[in-house]
Amino acid sequence: MDKNPQKIAFLGLGSMGLPMAARLLDAGHPLTVWNRTPGKADPLVAAGAVRAASPAEAVAGADVVVTMLADPAAALAVAESMIPALRPGTHWIDTSTVGPDTVRALAARLPEGVTLVDAPVMGSVDRAAAGELTVLAGGDTTPVAAVLDRFGTVTACGGPGAGAALKLVLINVVIGGVALVAEALALAEALGLPRELALRTLSAGPLAGAVARATATGSHFPVALAAKDVRLATGLAELPVLDAVHHALTRDPALAAEDLAAVAG
Ligand code: NAP
Repeated sequence: MDKNPQKIAFLGLGSMGLPMAARLLDAGHPLTVWNRTPGKADPLVAAGAVRAASPAEAVAGADVVVTMLADPAAALAVAESMIPALRPGTHWIDTSTVGPDTVRALAARLPEGVTLVDAPVMGSVDRAAAGELTVLAGGDTTPVAAVLDRFGTVTACGGPGAGAALKLVLINVVIGGVALVAEALALAEALGLPRELALRTLSAGPLAGAVARATATGSHFPVALAAKDVRLATGLAELPVLDAVHHALTRDPALAAEDLAAVAG
């Protein structure tokens, strides 16, 4: 860590934000944190972070602002409070999965001298804690490279919004793959085949990665957030298979808070 580590404000301390913020604190960055439900900041405050009472208070003295929020509505709500308090020279990294339209809407509201990098991530809570996420970055990452590197491996995707765009492509393949594995297992069961046999043989084929995700245990990516990502995609192109996947994800409300793997039983 250099002698003058960037001062960071981290907003959004859910399943992903909390371990990502912890990695910045561990690296020696002065860290101010804000979360809508304040108690989620307690472990970070106990470890040395400063708790802010509002998004505006959190970002007031920051060199770098990181947001990790649920969806476009959350990002826009936090931006409403935070943007007027951003001082020139601040670099904002949005790691939420919100799609390129929201990134563009946020970028259009930036004050003079403030930059925005869209940097949604692939990988769940286990990889967030280990600093092994895949970070899909849109825009100029140079001023925030040290921060992004703490999260994982950075893939430069192009200009502003390109990270958000590629994230929708990649995550929808994962979600669709898990949905397809779930149907393969339902078919195997209907045919009287053992689940273990079906999983083992599917793992030897082209859906191996989807089988691994459908049986993962260290992930916590709620089905409701997966459905949000599918909706973001189907709003941008005609995608009848993903329309059906959205239906499959939302037909049982009891699954909404469960990890995506629950879709495959
Ligand atoms: P999460 O645990 O549900 O956390 C969501 C965060 O957004 C919380 O801090 C929540 O605050 C905040 N929030 C929601 N609505 C808000 C509002 N209206 N105003 C202010 N704050 C609001 O979700 P997560 O799993 O960390 O996911 C965060 C983002 O990363 C999502 O876009 C998700 O798609 C993406 N992602 C998730 C995973 C994963 O495996 N979980 C992996 C890659 C990417 P409260 O604490 O007050 O509810």
